[in-house]
Amino acid sequence: MLKCQEVELRADALVDGTPLSRRERLSLNMHLLMCRHCRRYVRQLRALTAHLRHRESPTAHDDQVQAVLDCVHHSKQTTD
Ligand SMILES: [Zn+2]
Repeated sequence: MLKCQEVELRADALVDGTPLSRRERLSLNMHLLMCRHCRRYVRQLRALTAHLRHRESPTAHDDQVQAVLDCVHHSKQTTD
């Protein structure tokens, strides 16, 4: 069985969807089944990765720009 440290080293690949060998994936999943610590680690890493991807997505960026523009437009109208 893998050690926790080895799982943490491979967790990036697991979360990124980097292809792992069948044997590696199996031993990772075996470890995750038995180890609560690593399950939590992988879950947090997954959430973090999803969060970062969302922030970098062009849609979110456009929404933010639009929100700022609306705000500027609105404040301009009220001050005029
Ligand atoms: Zn572990």
